[in-house]
Amino acid sequence: MKELVVISGKGGTGKTSIVASFAALAERAVLADCDVDAADLHLVVTPTIVKREEFSGGSQARIMPDSCTACGRCEEVCRFDAIQRSEPDDAEGQVTFSVDPIACEGCGVCVYFCPADAIEFAPAINGEWFISETRYGPMVHAKLGVAEENSGKLVSVIRTQAKQIAEEKDLDLILIDGSPGIGCPVIASITGADLVLVVTEPTLSGLHDLQRVAELTQHFGIETLVCINKWDLNPSIALEIERQAGQRHLEVTGRVRYDRTVTEAQLRRSSVVEINQDGAADDIRQVWASVRHTLASS
Ligand code: SF4
Ligand code: SF4
Repeated sequence: MKELVVISGKGGTGKTSIVASFAALAERAVLADCDVDAADLHLVVTPTIVKREEFSGGSQARIMPDSCTACGRCEEVCRFDAIQRSEPDDAEGQVTFSVDPIACEGCGVCVYFCPADAIEFAPAINGEWFISETRYGPMVHAKLGVAEENSGKLVSVIRTQAKQIAEEKDLDLILIDGSPGIGCPVIASITGADLVLVVTEPTLSGLHDLQRVAELTQHFGIETLVCINKWDLNPSIALEIERQAGQRHLEVTGRVRYDRTVTEAQLRRSSVVEINQDGAADDIRQVWASVRHTLASS
């Protein structure tokens, strides 16, 4: 079984459109949407959810008002300013304390220092993950709650589930839509993968992002290919990307031209290779053939 992760330096490079086309071209694959902060692969593959589980990325503090003596120790020790102090309405009232659930990082320090044992520390539900059926095969995906973090941990859950499905169904490829950037979720997406495909675009920020992402994949020793999406919007920067990729010993596996059919496919909740044969669809088919070849020999 092989794991292919498609990533980009930032959002908006067309990564998910390319993953959706790969999903249509792949046979015997499990899809995994690890772009948990901006999951949108489901918009194209229209999954039918068959299993739904809550995700807890850690615990969260909650002050129990009946036990709290209003000593204020928790406010002193919380480094994240997550303890809210409310002044009384009148002279006879008491100061009260509560935890701001958005600001609380779940470090547990206030629980340790509370002299009255008045802080509950229970697992927080940060989102949900799903196993679905799609027209391309099984898919694991997730939804993170608003302003929730711990997306790296959620990515690990998705990858583990995808591996389990691949083993159960004897499928030989896990196709991962990875997170953009170089933070915790993308590291969780790529570690231990067999191959990374970086989708970049011919802009100065695309060039810069490629350098950062390449450093990351090389740090983890993962074989990396590069695909330049919408290359013809700026052929000179596309050339520069190829030159710099060569200096870093990264293979540019293909160029995909700008093509309005890609947007049309999105509007039809489809992948471009399903609605077209030439243009960008043909380019993506060639990139896919090259990626498959590299995977087979990795
Ligand atoms: S440390 Fe405990 S008792 Fe003191 S204010 Fe905070 S929750 Fe209340
Ligand atoms: S668990 Fe940590 S972050 Fe949350 S309120 Fe307590 S001290 Fe602050």
